[in-house]
Amino acid sequence: LTQLFRPLDMLGMVYRTIRQGLIDMAEMFRLIDTHVEVRDVAGAPALIAHQPSVVFDDVVFGYDRDRTILKGLSFEVPAGHHVAIVGPSGAGKSTIGRLLFRFYDPWSGRILIDGQDIAQVTQTSLRAILGIVPQDSVLFNESIGYNIGYGRDGASMADIQEAARGAALMGLIERLPAGLDTEVGERGLKLSGGEKQRVAIARTLVKNPRILLLDEATSALDTRTEQDILATLHTLAANRTSLSIAHRLSTIVDADSIIVLSEGRLAEQGSHAELLRYDGLYAEMWARQANEVQTDQAAQ
Ligand code: ADP
Ligand code: MG
Repeated sequence: LTQLFRPLDMLGMVYRTIRQGLIDMAEMFRLIDTHVEVRDVAGAPALIAHQPSVVFDDVVFGYDRDRTILKGLSFEVPAGHHVAIVGPSGAGKSTIGRLLFRFYDPWSGRILIDGQDIAQVTQTSLRAILGIVPQDSVLFNESIGYNIGYGRDGASMADIQEAARGAALMGLIERLPAGLDTEVGERGLKLSGGEKQRVAIARTLVKNPRILLLDEATSALDTRTEQDILATLHTLAANRTSLSIAHRLSTIVDADSIIVLSEGRLAEQGSHAELLRYDGLYAEMWARQANEVQTDQAAQ
């Protein structure tokens, strides 16, 4: 996630530098400068998303020049559709999300939203229509209500409560001495990984984005909480363009289309039933996970 919140990361770095007594403005600007990799082109217009489809068109990208992560990736998420991305760890799944948010630019190829190249529009307008529930969420040392309301400027208390309910957080909040005003984070209440993830889900519910990206959004949750939250995520994804990166395949069987990413390339694409019939990588992953579930159940 540090990559997903570059500006925050950068501020943290500047802050640490200042705290270490290095209040040298030149050094501070150097730090800021080396962290701004992506800039708006001069006179960039705002993104206008009437029908927010997402297209990756022959995208090639790597973090370091000597290692290519995405090797010519093309796929489309039609507006209002739900596409899932699966594949082994390290395949480049989260990288797709980072490129969609334009934390990096592809080496070649284009990413289009509703036909507009995201590199040609303002980053502010791009990020305004995207909502992400990341793998690891960052919380501010603020109240739990602030952390949820952060999803959208001007969110009302009712919006925040509704989102907290949707993310199955009300039980926890009601047990807290100061409710939504309870401080969380380093200086306050320590939340578990699953609770933090639910705060991130609530934040996204408040933002109500046109395009939703779930990056293993339920991976830190136990199976039961996952079931509760999947229902919410389904509601959130309904009639909305959504991309979900999933580890547990059982959570994405309903997707309109499933993409299997392998070594930076699209290896297979189809519905759950089609991919099982195809009897390739997906079918193999499915069989392996079904086995693991049985083994888990036998162990209990
Ligand atoms: P996945 O989400 O499929 O597990 P990622 O997209 O996070 O995979 O990462 C793909 C590859 O890129 C991995 O080998 C990972 O180690 C590498 N990688 C991810 N982030 C960075 C980074 N900031 N710098 C260098 N390599 C990275
Ligand atoms: Mg990942």
